[in-house]
Amino acid sequence: MIIILEPKATLEQRDSLLTDLKQRGYGVHLSEGVERTIVGVIGTPELDKMNLVEQFESLPFVERVVPILKPYKLVGKSFKPEGTVINVRGVKIGDGSVCIMAGPCTVESPEMLFETARFVKKCGANVLRGGAFKPSTSPYSFHGLGEQGLQLLAEARDETGLPIITEVMDTRDIELVGKYTDIFQIGTRNMTNFSLLKEMGNVRKPVMLKRGWASTIEEWLQAAEYIASQGNYEIILCERGIRTFETYTRNTFDINAIPSIHELSHLPIFADPSHATGRRSIVQAVSCGAVASGADGLIIETHPNPEKAIKDGPQSLTFTQFEELLTAIRPVAEAVGRSLSPAV
Ligand code: PEP
Ligand code: MN
Repeated sequence: MIIILEPKATLEQRDSLLTDLKQRGYGVHLSEGVERTIVGVIGTPELDKMNLVEQFESLPFVERVVPILKPYKLVGKSFKPEGTVINVRGVKIGDGSVCIMAGPCTVESPEMLFETARFVKKCGANVLRGGAFKPSTSPYSFHGLGEQGLQLLAEARDETGLPIITEVMDTRDIELVGKYTDIFQIGTRNMTNFSLLKEMGNVRKPVMLKRGWASTIEEWLQAAEYIASQGNYEIILCERGIRTFETYTRNTFDINAIPSIHELSHLPIFADPSHATGRRSIVQAVSCGAVASGADGLIIETHPNPEKAIKDGPQSLTFTQFEELLTAIRPVAEAVGRSLSPAV
């Protein structure tokens, strides 16, 4: 349930309520909005819940008590009616502007990474992406440069000023990845890795949670709830395509997910047209659709020489295509009353 406090509730009243809830064995989470404070109450349901609702509702500083029937609470709209804005080294995510994350699928060498970082920065990208720990369907594929890849990403950040995002796949790597990255990425294959999700709740850095390739929107929000339930509310959701019967494209971009997430949650929602399509020829068109439907940002793979890319070459844009994509999405963003995030 959530407890909505009167705007005039004092800090003492709020704290006495929190103490009372904790003594009853509940977990409490605060959402302090511009207008009012909302208390999220999580945990063991009391037997006489309606009685409890009445008790809290009778407090003079409580405006309303709302029992939440959805399987997620903290990431839901009713807990926090205004959208979450995440600030990563000055880049604002979820503030209404369209944020662009771009870079190679995987960090291959210093040369290709720095060349890409400089180029995407010049075009106006806001965040540099690149995998150092790569999930692979085959155990014999390339699995990334590991710490060396993280060091290169950090050097590219130092040179360009672009914050970095990179994937973590294993709880044992969180500390190492956290030493370098600004945003943790949880990939599609790990959306239901609940021990990893819980640990992401304990880091004090934003987390991008990609949608599982066979997960419903509700399952995805429950995965986000795992992170939030441990106290980290800085979560960016990312629609990266789901598996359907279609085989022309690598996945099927679920455009419905973008406005649906805005309807259900306060978290920012990104689109990843690279993995959603698997085909560089259609990445731009799908990006325009994502922006038109309200995506808070895009994460795009680009490579100096996609033909030679170790991973995800067919979906990686050439530099020319990346520049064209930015030119194409600008008027689309403006048409729906948005603009691209200011350059770093
Ligand atoms: C990636 O971003 O390179 C990646 C592996 O993404 P996903 O988890 O969406 O497949
Ligand atoms: Mn990739």
